[in-house]
Amino acid sequence: ISIEGLSKIFTSNNSKTTAVENLDLRIEEGDIFGVIGYSGAGKSTFVRLLNRLEEPSGGRITINNEDITAMTTSQLRIARQDIGMIFQHFNLLWSRTVEDNIAFPLEIAGLSKAKRQRRVQELIDLVGLSGKEKAYPSQLSGGQKQRVGIARALANKPKVLLCDEATSALDPETTNAILDLLVDINKQLGLTIILITHEMHVIRKICKHVAVMEKGKVVEQGEVMDVFLHP
Ligand code: ADP
Ligand code: ADP
Repeated sequence: ISIEGLSKIFTSNNSKTTAVENLDLRIEEGDIFGVIGYSGAGKSTFVRLLNRLEEPSGGRITINNEDITAMTTSQLRIARQDIGMIFQHFNLLWSRTVEDNIAFPLEIAGLSKAKRQRRVQELIDLVGLSGKEKAYPSQLSGGQKQRVGIARALANKPKVLLCDEATSALDPETTNAILDLLVDINKQLGLTIILITHEMHVIRKICKHVAVMEKGKVVEQGEVMDVFLHP
């Protein structure tokens, strides 16, 4: 993933906020890359630019040599299957069961019912939710809800997983279990993980590389050990 001169300026009622400013970054395939910073640093905007949930004001993002920023809506729809995302508050469909939440992106992708069922079972096993297929999100713990979020994000076999404060609503023990699962997935599937957080211990536990964001800019980046040991 290569990011060059990426900017995002929000304008509303004559006020301008530069959320991301002229950002350059390279993220290698298979990495677990952390982005850390205080609230308002621009982390969430940055990660939402990567799958064009936000339109950039300037700059370029290329993923596997494909220019995400130049894509039309229909090209983007296909490219987004390669980019999964999980969220702080899980963003599940509350009226659907676990298996139907996970099947949702497969339905959109047009898979047959038989193929969907097979894939959902694989994903349930991968994230450790066997026996919870018919449960509703309201019947699950926070950690279990995030496992559903992870399974749904992986449904279409993406190459990149974006994690937006994915453990910030969880207690420490559950956080560790979810982080262990992310490491497993990174190893098993070779998936690139980009994780944003305001919590240093999350970065220390699983990331290989880190970028520190402040006021829309990357102020420091490198290997986690180097960045945190030599401030
Ligand atoms: P972080 O994720 O690091 O907390 P954000 O990316 O959410 O930071 O926000 C960065 C800055 O952009 C903040 O000043 C925030 O208020 C502003 N911002 C984010 N989203 C919007 C929006 N949709 N409209 C206007 N300003 C926004
Ligand atoms: P957290 O514990 O991380 O704050 P929750 O899982 O409790 O998050 O809730 C996430 C969001 O979904 C909240 O906005 C909450 O109001 C909403 N929500 C939670 N449970 C249900 C439910 N059973 N039906 C509809 N909305 C719900």
